[in-house]
Amino acid sequence: MISNDCRIKLKEIFTDRYLENEPLSRHINFRVGGPAAVFCIVKNINELTEALSIIGDRCNHFILGGGTNVLASDRGFDGVVFKISLNSVDFQKTDMIAEAGVLSVVAARIAAEHGLSGLEWASTLPGTVGGMVRGNAGCFGGEAKDVIKYVRIIRAGKIIKLNNKDLKFSYRHSLIKDTNDIVLEAVFALQRGDKEEIKKKMAEIMVARKKSQPLKSGTAGCTFKNYEIRDNDD
Ligand SMILES: Cc1cc2nc3c(=O)[nH]c(=O)nc-3n(C[C@H](O)[C@H](O)[C@H](O)COP(=O)(O)OP(=O)(O)OC[C@H]3O[C@@H](n4cnc5c(N)ncnc54)[C@H](O)[C@@H]3O)c2cc1C
Repeated sequence: MISNDCRIKLKEIFTDRYLENEPLSRHINFRVGGPAAVFCIVKNINELTEALSIIGDRCNHFILGGGTNVLASDRGFDGVVFKISLNSVDFQKTDMIAEAGVLSVVAARIAAEHGLSGLEWASTLPGTVGGMVRGNAGCFGGEAKDVIKYVRIIRAGKIIKLNNKDLKFSYRHSLIKDTNDIVLEAVFALQRGDKEEIKKKMAEIMVARKKSQPLKSGTAGCTFKNYEIRDNDD
């Protein structure tokens, strides 16, 4: 249950981006899910830290990215959903700094436009940079862990930096899954490349993706893990 006091304070912070009884089916790729008691669209980091300090542990909250890898109950969610819409992208030499709400496909396209290689694999990956980091998303020969230099997260109300090694990446896993930290931004270490070559590779990946997956259906992509079977495996 969210107290009236919490609701009033959250409404003051998010104004027209504060919604009540928002159907989660509108925000989740499976297109199912009942209402979130409170749904806040986060456009800047300060409003998120302020909101987290207001709710503390007084009610449940859930961080939502692109909604491409979550399933919501038809009963809905009796808490606060924070939809991460932090959308800025910046560069420091060949490093690309993308906020957590940037779509992975957009991050890959912007990198390509800047003649930077390393994110081609993500050019058809549904969801946001935040979701990509949390799940160490990967496809077409690339994975988040191969390109992430460091991320900034919120942990216990504080913003801290975690380097690639700190994130303990493994197959579709990162430390964030264990800690429930909130990813604010990721810094990708890219390399200069030929813009046309990068775009050609992305076009090939798009063809392969379209062949293997029904992109317009309500799914969460792969249902099973992709195992590499070795000779000595049972
Ligand atoms: C058609 C289709 C194809 C797909 N193909 C692939 C593929 O090839 N490879 C692959 O790895 N995945 C694939 N996926 C799964 C999905 O694209 C990835 O897992 C993606 O990275 C999820 O990002 P999201 O923003 O949608 O996360 P969401 O679905 O919104 O959230 C997933 C989890 O991450 C958490 N989360 C989201 N944002 C943040 C944040 N900022 N900080 C902390 N936690 C956060 C959520 O709380 C939730 O627990 C596919 C999905 C679909 C629908």
